[in-house]
Amino acid sequence: MYIETPLVESRALSERLGKSVWMKIEAMQPTGSFKARGIGHACAVYKERGARRFVSSSGGNAGLAVAYAGRKLGVPVLVVVPETTSERAKHLIGMENAEVVVHGKSWDEANRFALASCTSADAFLHPFDDPLLWEGHATMIDEVARARLEPDAVVLSVGGGGLLCGVAEGLRRNGWERVPIVAVETEGADSYARSLAAGERIELSAITSIATSLGARSVCAEALALAKLRPVASIVVSDRQAVAGCFELLTEHRIVVEPACGASVAALDALAQEAELRDARNILLIVCGGVGTSVDQLNRWRTATDPNTETA
Ligand SMILES: *Cc1c(COP(=O)(O)O)cnc(C)c1O
Repeated sequence: MYIETPLVESRALSERLGKSVWMKIEAMQPTGSFKARGIGHACAVYKERGARRFVSSSGGNAGLAVAYAGRKLGVPVLVVVPETTSERAKHLIGMENAEVVVHGKSWDEANRFALASCTSADAFLHPFDDPLLWEGHATMIDEVARARLEPDAVVLSVGGGGLLCGVAEGLRRNGWERVPIVAVETEGADSYARSLAAGERIELSAITSIATSLGARSVCAEALALAKLRPVASIVVSDRQAVAGCFELLTEHRIVVEPACGASVAALDALAQEAELRDARNILLIVCGGVGTSVDQLNRWRTATDPNTETA
């Protein structure tokens, strides 16, 4: 359902930071992102409980992970996506033999249709708010522990907070509950940063960042609750910085990732400003991946987010 991913020290990032930066390269998962872990685990459990079909409303990495898990487990998959979903995304999901149904102008409409399509024989896979997902995501930290790397901080991206909850679970079950997690978002998709500041769950009225995989209008309740139980720092970067982070991974490590992932690379520069991280030596960077981009797209974004480019 998922592979053990490489854990590689980045010389380039380590040199720049003056710390050891270890990359857990989830971009190498067969579905291009960490989602394979949690969704694979959840699908396996739902199959065991009798699910005859898996249903998802994600045209992104979550939908692709459900389609992949369904093919691997021999369970049919329905993915409902809105009209805005790219041909490429539909193609990738279709390649995993899932049924792709286009419904509605926005994700909300597609999601409502997907939920309404569910019968009692179906399992609906939420993209981030499910303890089974977190249990599966946690395996990436088990692998780090087995490799005998003890991180002083973990840097990861936050959309709805599923990755955050999974990594927190992995750290907890390996005796590392005091290791700080640095939660990174982009401006315009910063529902977690705003919720932390407000002390309650904030719902964004719209997502304005290009990092669409971080575009949950509100995070799951568990993500907010965790910040009261363990050290969590929050960093927000611009779209421009996130794209620069993508180019850094591309140039230094020949890996293509979405801005949702580049954001975490970009956030490394801000680490030195976090008082409790100044003495951290080993930084674990979750390279969460994402298939929703290409080198051409990254180039277009770089031009579009360049303040020196005139826009009509
Ligand atoms: C899903 C996803 C995220 C955000 O994960 P959450 O669990 O929603 O916080 C970040 N990056 C990529 C590439 C993703 O697929």
